[in-house]
Amino acid sequence: MRDERRRRGWRHWLGAVLVCGWLGQLPAAPRVIVIDPGHGGTADSGSMAQRTLSASNNATSTGGLREKALTLELSKMIAEALPAAAARAGQEVKVVLTRTTDTNPDFAARARLCAEVGASCIVSIHFNATGGPKKALGSLAMISAESRNPNYAVDRQFARELTEACNAAVRRFLPESTARAPISDHHLHGGQGSNFFFQLARHPSLARVPKCFLEVEFIDHPQVQSAFLDRRPESFRAVAEAIAAFLAEPR
Ligand SMILES: [Zn+2]
Repeated sequence: MRDERRRRGWRHWLGAVLVCGWLGQLPAAPRVIVIDPGHGGTADSGSMAQRTLSASNNATSTGGLREKALTLELSKMIAEALPAAAARAGQEVKVVLTRTTDTNPDFAARARLCAEVGASCIVSIHFNATGGPKKALGSLAMISAESRNPNYAVDRQFARELTEACNAAVRRFLPESTARAPISDHHLHGGQGSNFFFQLARHPSLARVPKCFLEVEFIDHPQVQSAFLDRRPESFRAVAEAIAAFLAEPR
């Protein structure tokens, strides 16, 4: 009886070793890269009271191009560029967009999708505007404030490197543009921070996932219209490929 139990024990142990060895041979699951085209639709969605509010549009270029359309156009180009970029990096990735048409999912819906697809990193694409007479140039990322972000150091490095990769491509069209240091969202909504980061923080599985907003360039600068936005087939392609190459790298 005792021998039989011992034999069974050995068989279980051996089985476990074989299973572990077999699992060790399996290819890793592809990383899931979520690209969030900021804004969209014809109306704001969600509410500030529930911290789900997503504005339909913020910035508008000097030529009348709206941020919500530019974010979707560039995000689709990033998604198109990612498979080839991943192949070059010897990586397998899956790309998910939070919207593919002119709609405006609120931030609860966008965050829920990130959790459902098992996001490995999250980049929300935006374009900036100074909104005043003083015009600025530059690429800029925003991350969740240190006081409420357990992943602050990782996010900061991810945001800095992503901004530099993006801006290297932007500078081919706007040589005076610069990669600015990441900023935190501590100033937004009276100190409450971004609604998107708030909603993402409600999903514990996303706590260690690198995430940031990327403001590609200030679009209310006349030079940005003529040298960058009016040349989108080349300029957006260059920026999309630079962002895809960065996101495809193992990390
Ligand atoms: Zn925006």
